[in-house]
Amino acid sequence: MMGDIEMLPASETVLTRPRPPLAWPPQLLMQALQSKGIRPGQARQAVRDIGHAQRTAQLTRAQALALCSKPVMAQLADLYLDTPSLTLAERASSQDGSERLLWRTTDGQVLESVIIPSSNGRRVTVCVSSQVGCARRCAFCETGRLGLQRNLQTCEIVEQFQGSLLLWQQVRGDRPALSNVVFMGMGEPLDNWPQVVDAVNILSDTLAFGVSIRKITVSTVGVAQQLPAFFDQTRANLALSLNAPDDARRARVMPIGRGCNLAELKEKILACLPAGREILVEYILFAGFNDALADADLLGAWLQGIPSRCNLIPANPGPDPALRQPDQEQVLAFQKRLLEQGVRAMVRYPHGRDVGGACGQLAGLHRQKAG
Ligand code: SF4
Repeated sequence: MMGDIEMLPASETVLTRPRPPLAWPPQLLMQALQSKGIRPGQARQAVRDIGHAQRTAQLTRAQALALCSKPVMAQLADLYLDTPSLTLAERASSQDGSERLLWRTTDGQVLESVIIPSSNGRRVTVCVSSQVGCARRCAFCETGRLGLQRNLQTCEIVEQFQGSLLLWQQVRGDRPALSNVVFMGMGEPLDNWPQVVDAVNILSDTLAFGVSIRKITVSTVGVAQQLPAFFDQTRANLALSLNAPDDARRARVMPIGRGCNLAELKEKILACLPAGREILVEYILFAGFNDALADADLLGAWLQGIPSRCNLIPANPGPDPALRQPDQEQVLAFQKRLLEQGVRAMVRYPHGRDVGGACGQLAGLHRQKAG
């Protein structure tokens, strides 16, 4: 069910220019080449070469094209636009190794993504945006204050990853490589699902970027009517941002909670979650608001019967000063209470907080105006 939201009419989210082939699913690119008279084997080889060039990010598009045979190159040159969809406008490096990147689109919008190395050095995650601004207006989130400006195109999502790849290799060399992608940046991914699922397919395609689908996570505030499409169309992980143990408090921090209560949300999840899959439930802990042991009991009860894990995230400073992080003792007590109920609960500490790159802090336009 739809919550209290403001959606832009479709006419305002029309693409500003054609999607460059970089953002095409490899199958589509192969079809396009074949429709221009290229033999299937040649088309497949060309797409493989281009994917490899993009994945290693050491070649420009022109250099990638030069890898192909002359007939393929001629056809691809027609398809390719050499102007990227995004340009890097700002980069902020955190003390913890995270990099917050601010991109400008060709129509002057700004959006952000964050590169987050894990503390143990084993993986590097890129957190990408799916929209400029967001219609969902969660109380703890800077992006929500912008309202929805527009949906991102597939190429604008994919290029956040490709640009991050390039930057990371320049800064850090080859290791550790970017391994994970989370759709937890600006925007509600399920409100832009057609573009997001295309981006997931491109990022995970071995002919393109080859990120393991098991390492791609799409986070939602619980857009219930889109959940069946999500589980039908991708094997990526779903993260559900819950953040409150009852309806009244959820509606206070997440307007979507006014349109779909927790019982309905659970019913919807159980109705469409395929056998053998589980969800990740994210619960931001706010001091004195949702962090009591009784709240852990309510949360544990709601999770009963849902194949899931639970991440507990101490709140980051955000637009509402009343929503503060609890002290460490309370966080650990909350986790312990969940573990006692059989919930697989982990505490996740924020990355990139000192550069405004942590969960709920991506501000895009606000940051540009303030700067
Ligand atoms: S938390 Fe996510 S869904 Fe909520 S306002 Fe922020 S970007 Fe939108």
